[in-house]
This record gives sequence, structure tokens and C-alpha cells, in this order.
Amino acid sequence: MILKRVEVIPIRAPRKEAVKSGLNAADPVSASEFGIIRLFTDSGLEGLGEISITFPRIGHSLCHAARTMLAPAIVGRSALEAPRVLAEIDRVLGGELSAPYLRSAFEMALLDLAGKHYNIPVYQLLGGRMRERAPLAWGIYQKSPEEMAADAAQARAEGFHAIKLKVGRRLEDDMAAVKAVTEAAGADVPLRLDANAAWRSVAEAATAIEAFAKVAPIAWIEQPLPRRNLEGLRLLRSRTGVPIMADESLHSLRDAFELSRAEAVDVFNVYVAESGGVRAAADIFAFAAALDVPCIIGSQAEMGIATAACAHLAVAVPNLPYAIETFGPLRYKRDIVKKGASIERGWLTTPEGPGLGVELDLDAVQQMRVD
Ligand SMILES: [Mg+2]
Repeated sequence: MILKRVEVIPIRAPRKEAVKSGLNAADPVSASEFGIIRLFTDSGLEGLGEISITFPRIGHSLCHAARTMLAPAIVGRSALEAPRVLAEIDRVLGGELSAPYLRSAFEMALLDLAGKHYNIPVYQLLGGRMRERAPLAWGIYQKSPEEMAADAAQARAEGFHAIKLKVGRRLEDDMAAVKAVTEAAGADVPLRLDANAAWRSVAEAATAIEAFAKVAPIAWIEQPLPRRNLEGLRLLRSRTGVPIMADESLHSLRDAFELSRAEAVDVFNVYVAESGGVRAAADIFAFAAALDVPCIIGSQAEMGIATAACAHLAVAVPNLPYAIETFGPLRYKRDIVKKGASIERGWLTTPEGPGLGVELDLDAVQQMRVD
């Protein structure tokens, strides 16, 4: 099965609600600038991938790189030799920081093709199922305490298994939000806080975390400090006693190694897009399992294609003790697939069928494409 043609479609997908977090407080994101990868083979099969990156907003630049640099490098190669195709992609991208997002999009398209070729779902390519479905958390953006409380109450009513709150504003704003959400969500829905590296020092982060811990039970605090500050994370972890999660600090197996060597965090937030694909993410899960570090799967607000890839990973990895955050399709006014992973009552389930199991909604894609 030879790769004959690569189509790259940059899209602009309107969101139901603008994203506000510690990363972009002054610049809300009202639409995702993502990309769709379609790999066509000489056997008539089509593999689908998705470039999903919310921060920074470089999705369309990545689409340009996919078209001009990656497509010519992989056309003519065997679609069933993914390691070779991915090695070529790695060579062309040369370790550029955004390379994993592109690599991931192509890897999921190759997995989709392999699954369709062998007539098995992608989770079987990962070794088979560990669970039937994965529990989901819901994420709440920064806004007024009343609005955040209303979101929390709705998430609880809809069956989500945990709530994630974006913090990192003025401490009094964060405190008001934490109190309001805790009250609305109830004590049985675990609350996780994500600072997106907003605090500049251990002292500043510790002050905030200790204040939150006094008013609510906090499951963990995600990325309190900038990504390279592993020593700061370690100090914070020992000083506050609240579990610390790595997100921005964790983009690769090597990062996982550095984090564990520094004893910097208690939990890993593993992303398919940031790791460079489903298998690379599974490798981080395996490494973490060996160290007894629990992991979840994080979200770039992926749409239907990449969310399906995350769902296949989620049902296959052995060590997934907490709710995951791949609720991306719920963020959009319209999805790019007409068949995909299902999200029901706080559970994510893989689609039926071979490969990723998704079907592109060509009308929706036509509506969202920007070239
Ligand atoms: Mg995060």
C-alpha cells in the first residue's frame, strides 16, 4: 500500500466559547486554526489525521509545512511502514519544537490506514483494549465566578467525572472561582487546577496553592511554573503537599525522564499531539507505569479525528487511573466528522469500525476551510 497523494486542509473552526487561560488572558481564542491531513494510497484507502494546536496559534503554518515539506518527502513510501515514514518526517523537521504536532497528525493518518488495511480498529494496533470506555473531566475557562459555577453545575449534571479550572489570574479572582466551583460541583467531583505556567516564582505559586487548599480539596495543580523550571516544581511539591502535574514541561519521553529524575511532579498530563503521536504517547504511559507515576490524556481541544485517536489510546493504555480531558469536540459549534468517538454522560468511547473509525464531514470541512 503506497502513499500516492497527501491533501492538507487548513481550517478555522468556530468555538462555542472563547478560550481564556493563563496562557492568553488578554487574547481570547474564538476559533481553532487547525488542519486536516488526508493520505491517499494506491489501494484506494484514505487515512485521516488532524493538526491540533491551540497555543501558539500556528496551525496554519504547520499546514504549510505539511504541504511543502512533508508531503513531497513521504509520497511513494509504503503506508504500512510507519516507522520509516515517521523517520523521514523527523528528518525533515529536524527537531523543531512544533514538530510533534505535525508528526502526530501524520502518525494518526498512518494508523488509520493500517487499521483499515488489516480491518481492525486502532486500539488493536496498540495491543487491544484495557477498558471499554474512558471517564472524562470537563474544563472551565476563566470568567466570572457565577459563570464558572454555572459551568461546574452543568458539568456535574452531565456526568463528568472531574472538573478542571484554569487559574493564574489575580489571587482574589482565582479564590472566588475556586470557591464558587467547589460549591457548585459538590465535594464528590474532584477539582483540578491548571495554571498554565502563570506563576513566576515558587513563592508566588506556593502562596496561591496554599490558599486554594484551605478552601477546597485540590486533586492536583497543573503546571504552576514555567516549563523548564523543574527544580521549582520539585520545591513546590515538597513545600505545599498538593500533588503537582506536568503539562507544558512534558512533551516527550525525554521530558518524562528529566521530570522523573528531578522528582519534579506527581502526575503526567500526556498529549497525543505534543508527544508526536499515539504510539509516542503510549511510550510515555509505559515509562510512567514503570515509575508508578499516574498519567491522564490531555487535550488541545482536538476535533473529531484527533479525539478518536485519543480515544483509542485511552482504551488501550493499562495505567489510566483518572478522568481524561479529551472532550474537544464539545468545544465546537460543528465538528469535522460525521462519525466519531462518542461522548455520553461523561464517558468517551471509540467509534466502531476499522482504523480510527471516523468519517469526514465534507460539508463541514468545506465550510471551515480557509484556502
Ligand atoms: Mg494544561
